[in-house]
Amino acid sequence: MNIAYLDYNATAPVRPEAAAAVAAALEVTGNASSVHRCGRYARRLVEDAREQVAALAGVGPDRVVFTSGGTEANDLVLNGCGARSVLVSAVEHPSVLDARADAAVLGVDGEGRVDPAGCAGAVRGLAGPALVSVMAANNETGVLQPVDAVAEIARAAGVRLHCDAVQAAGRVDLAPIAAVADYLTLSAHKIGGPQGAGAVIVGADAPLQARLRGGGQERGRRAGTQNVPAIAGFGAAAVLAQRDLARAGELARLRDDLEARLRAHHPGVRFPGAGAPRVANTSCIAVAGLSAETQVIALDLAAVAVSAGAACSSGKVARSPVLDAMGVGDDLAGSAIRVSLGWASTADDVDRFVSAWCRMLADAGIAAVAAA
Ligand code: PLP
Repeated sequence: MNIAYLDYNATAPVRPEAAAAVAAALEVTGNASSVHRCGRYARRLVEDAREQVAALAGVGPDRVVFTSGGTEANDLVLNGCGARSVLVSAVEHPSVLDARADAAVLGVDGEGRVDPAGCAGAVRGLAGPALVSVMAANNETGVLQPVDAVAEIARAAGVRLHCDAVQAAGRVDLAPIAAVADYLTLSAHKIGGPQGAGAVIVGADAPLQARLRGGGQERGRRAGTQNVPAIAGFGAAAVLAQRDLARAGELARLRDDLEARLRAHHPGVRFPGAGAPRVANTSCIAVAGLSAETQVIALDLAAVAVSAGAACSSGKVARSPVLDAMGVGDDLAGSAIRVSLGWASTADDVDRFVSAWCRMLADAGIAAVAAA
């Protein structure tokens, strides 16, 4: 099918190298915990992938704990870190926001950024042992958080730091983040690996109690037979994600060109978060008067795949807590769609999106209003 796929933040197309690694691992018979040669071979695939994922974060392999994905990794950190109190930013992914009912929530400014001064005050109010969770890059807007400043505040207060880097992997260098965070979350399918694999990168001295128990896998931190094919694919994708960093400028040019063309066509278009530093691949696009759901369907009919704000797992489009937290009004927030580019994106994909978007506005009578 000839689709302009612009929904990498939901899931990236699987990279051929990752698919090949998955297929090769599926040919391997053996449980990675088994002692015989078949088990040892499967184990070798897991350990090779561990090294590849560790390299993406610039850490040693002993710091990688494989999970079933980003959601499980976030749950493991927030509930397994031994914190009595937890502070999470208001724009975290639901898997962080909902991981602990007792979490305190840290607000963000109009661009979706945590304010370090406000963070310092909130961190001081936490009863120890405590954890603060602030993501690297937002899934809806691409906005980058001031992780360094938050890390400094957390360190001074003796509070552990968790950083959900699912949307930052392959888009910014993770090594400086891993160097200051006690815990980092990664997910394979956002970087061109298979769905169903993720990891926590754990600080050398950071506690992590298993949530899944009953097996000694992952050094007792995550029980259950390892998903060898998915982990092998994750490793292959991690190698390529590191190389993608060199393409960030190219993706930023595509994204910026896309935004400039929409703005030229309809000056009323808004890009929430565009005033802050962002990862290069993401654009959140809002036009008052046209619901996000209608846009996603119209664009789908034009063979262009994008998301409505936060893509909900149920397929239903709900209000975006991220845009709510940024103070974006109802009309704009309800119209926000997300375009996200990645490793296979081309200028042609952007052209097709821009043409379909302009046609969609014309059909809705919106462009005519703007031009009048
Ligand atoms: N964290 C962020 C920022 C995400 O964007 C996502 C997925 O959209 C997740 C966590 C969850 O990852 P997974 O789909 O691997 O469970």
